[in-house]
Amino acid sequence: MRYYSWKAELLRVAIPLLVVAAGCALFDLGLLPLLAAALLACAWLLRHLQRLSDWLYNGAKSDPPEAAGMWGQVFDVIYDMQRESSQDNDRLQAMIDYLHASFASMSDAVVMLDPYGNIEWCNASAHDLLGLREEDDKGRQLVNLLRSPAFLRYFEAERYQAPLEMVSPVNGLINLSISVSFFGKRNRLLFARDVTRTHRLEQMRKDFVANVSHELRTPLTVINGYLETFSEHGGANPRWDRAVDQMLQQSRRMNLLIHDLMMLSRLESVPKLADESVIQLRPLMEMIREESGTAAKGKRRIEIDCDDKIAINGNANELRSAFSNLAVNAARYTAENDRIILRWYQDDYHAYFEVEDTGIGIEPQYIPRLTERFYRVDQSRSLDTGGTGLGLAIVKHVLIRHRAELRIRSAPNQGSVFTCVFPKSAAVQVSGKE
Ligand code: ADP
Repeated sequence: MRYYSWKAELLRVAIPLLVVAAGCALFDLGLLPLLAAALLACAWLLRHLQRLSDWLYNGAKSDPPEAAGMWGQVFDVIYDMQRESSQDNDRLQAMIDYLHASFASMSDAVVMLDPYGNIEWCNASAHDLLGLREEDDKGRQLVNLLRSPAFLRYFEAERYQAPLEMVSPVNGLINLSISVSFFGKRNRLLFARDVTRTHRLEQMRKDFVANVSHELRTPLTVINGYLETFSEHGGANPRWDRAVDQMLQQSRRMNLLIHDLMMLSRLESVPKLADESVIQLRPLMEMIREESGTAAKGKRRIEIDCDDKIAINGNANELRSAFSNLAVNAARYTAENDRIILRWYQDDYHAYFEVEDTGIGIEPQYIPRLTERFYRVDQSRSLDTGGTGLGLAIVKHVLIRHRAELRIRSAPNQGSVFTCVFPKSAAVQVSGKE
C-alpha cells in the first residue's frame, strides 16, 4: 500500500486554490472565485469525513468507501485493522466452541462459576450427576442448588487440594468425587466424577478383609490354645519343644495381625466417631509407658511431659491404641537405654500428643509412605521387632476420625518425633488445675 504524507494531501488542496488565485489576479476577478474554491475544498474534506463517520457508525462491516490519497489510506488502514481483529475474534470463538464442545461431551460433570459462585455454564453430565441444567440454572448460586452440608463445607472452605467424596443429589446410588479449582479472576471450575465402581470395589475390599480376619480368629484361637498347653506342659518328645515355641510365636504374631486388621476395618467401616468422653492424659501416658516398656527387648528410659491443665475429648479406646502404637514403635526402633519422651501440650491453635525418640530414625524419602498398610522401611528389621506393619495406618485413621493429623520429623541415626496435632476444640480445660 502506498503511503501518503500530509504534504501530498496539502499539495492536492493547495494547487487548485493557487490556480484559482492566479486566474483571479490575471483576469482581475476579485476574491469571490477564490472563496468559492476554498469552500469547495472544505466541502470535499467534510464529505470524506462524513463517509468515514457513516462507515464506522455502521460497524465498518462493508467494504470501505472508495477514496483517493490520504483519505483512501485512512479507510484502508481501518479496514485492515477491523479485519484482523475480526479474524482474532473468530479464532477465539472457535477455540471457545472447541473447549465447550469437549467439556460438553465429557462424562464427568463440568460447572463453570463466576467469582461470586454463580453458574456461568455447565455440561449435560452436570444434569445427570448433579441435577443442574444450564438453561434453568445459569446465573444462580451453586450453593443454593447443591445443599449437602458436606459439599457446602468443602465449597466454602476453599481448600480444594483433595477431592470431596459424596453421594449424588440426583441418585443416592451414585458416588461422586468432586474437585474444584480456581481460574481467571477467582472464577471456579467444578468437576464431578462418577466413582461408584471404585467405591464399590473399595467397599468389597474392606468387607473382604473384615470377614477374613473375623473368620480366621476362631481357628487361630484354638491352635493358639493347644500350642500354649504344649509349650507349658512340654510335649511327649523334647525334640518338638523348639518347634512348638516357634509355632506359638508365629501364631501370636498372626493374632496381632488379625487384631490390627479388624481394628482398621472397624475404623473404616464406621465413619462417625462414637463414644466420646473426656480423657485425662497422664494416667493414659503412664499405662502406655508400661506397655511400650515391655514391647521391646531391653530397657528404655521413657519420660512423661504432660500438661495436666488439659484433657482430650475423643474415643478412649481409639486414642489409646493410636498413642500406644507410636510409643511401642519408639521403643522398638531405639536401642537399649535410649531416651523416649511422651508429651502432651497445647499452643494457641492446637493440642499436641507427641512421641520423641533418639532411635534409628527414618530417611526423608520414606516418611510420606509410612502410614500405608504394611509399608516398612526395612522389612527384616520390622519383622524382627514383631511389628505388623499396620500400626501407623491405624494411627492415621484414628486421627482422621478425631479431625487431627500426624506429623513426622525424623533423621537417620538421630531419632524421630511423631506428633498428633489435634484441633484446639478437642482439648478440654480441666478445672482446678490453673
Ligand atoms: P511396624 O509394625 O512395622 O512397626 P508401623 O506401621 O507401626 O509398622 O510402622 C511402619 C514403619 O515405620 C516401620 O516398619 C518402621 O520402619 C517405621 N517406623 C515407625 N516408627 C518408627 C520410629 N519411631 N523410628 C524409626 N522408624 C519407625
